[in-house]
Amino acid sequence: MAKIVFEHVTKEFIDEKRGKVIAVNDANFTIEDKEFVVLVGPSGCGKTTTLRMIAGLERQTKGNIYIGEKLVNYLPPKDRDIAMVFQDYALYPHMTVYENLSFGLRNLKVPRTEIEQKVKRAAEILGISELLDRKPRELSGGQRQRVAVGRAIVRNPKVFLFDEPLSNLDAKLRVQMRVELAELHKKLETTIVYVTHDQVEAMTLGQRIIVMNHGIIQQIATPDELYNRPVNMFVAGFIGAPSMNFINCKVERNKIILSDGNSNTMFDIPQKFKKVIANINGKEMVMGIRPEDIYDAVFSQNIENKLYVDVYVKVVEKLGSENLIYFDKYGTTITARVNSQSRIVSGEYAKVAFNIDKIYLFDKETGIAIY
Ligand code: ATP
Repeated sequence: MAKIVFEHVTKEFIDEKRGKVIAVNDANFTIEDKEFVVLVGPSGCGKTTTLRMIAGLERQTKGNIYIGEKLVNYLPPKDRDIAMVFQDYALYPHMTVYENLSFGLRNLKVPRTEIEQKVKRAAEILGISELLDRKPRELSGGQRQRVAVGRAIVRNPKVFLFDEPLSNLDAKLRVQMRVELAELHKKLETTIVYVTHDQVEAMTLGQRIIVMNHGIIQQIATPDELYNRPVNMFVAGFIGAPSMNFINCKVERNKIILSDGNSNTMFDIPQKFKKVIANINGKEMVMGIRPEDIYDAVFSQNIENKLYVDVYVKVVEKLGSENLIYFDKYGTTITARVNSQSRIVSGEYAKVAFNIDKIYLFDKETGIAIY
């Protein structure tokens, strides 16, 4: 069993310039045995510190950490039965791949035949059997990455920790390695905790995702839940690319009012919100709509409940499979992801359609989503 539990875990650093920095603030979560969990958030949000506390490389200021039912608060890293793969791979340049893979086991005085077996198995799993005699400098980025993972596999740990392992690879290789890591998780059947700032990586790899911001866990959920029911504006804006559009609005007598200078646009509150905000009158709120829920009006015939909006298009970006269009409306710049067949061009007026059933509403003061 390699369940990981954080109970009210806080980590404070004393920084010379900034004074007290709360890197992780009262974190509570349970990562189940054999689960693949991704920690995601912008730079400085506390994800690496969280990972390092699991590894025992950083001691928490407050709270309890359990690995496999065992309280590990004071347990040194070597006794935690975990293996960590770092961003820079940390391979020994003067050693061959075989030596890099076997180094840890040799230190532990594991018998030679057993080392050979384990290295062979790891090399087979990762498809690097042909490379065992090479030195790291003779390998591509992707191959080096596999060796770094292999070094963790040979130790047969209960938990794998990955800290941005793909960030040094080019875009194409990153996609390929992502698929390989997902397959690897199936083969190894171990718990994996994976840190990234890339929400696409998080969404494609994680069975569950922990979203952090400013040291605070915002939401713990499956990729689907994060996308469809974000708890607040931070998560809503962080998950999905391009980001969700946020538009200030007013809620009045079962209507949502969007304001554009002197003119107002008004539409009925979608059914799903009617119960929750029936009694709200004259309240300022924020409406969220994802770029994929704004259509070129010409292609919106299948959208049941829509709001037509006339816009002046600033820019059109053609991505091949779709077009991104940008326009200023309702006091903000809005992005729409429309059909690639769309004839909308930059520098001209166009009609778009908002899919009203897909909007989100947030409390303007707290940013909390309303469902
Ligand atoms: P990144 O993606 O940039 O690596 P992160 O989400 O992993 O960011 P952390 O590295 O966990 O963030 O850092 C969280 C906060 O704690 C930051 O404000 C960082 O500056 C601070 N911090 C981390 N380590 C130390 C340290 N040793 N001393 C002082 N402050 C630290």
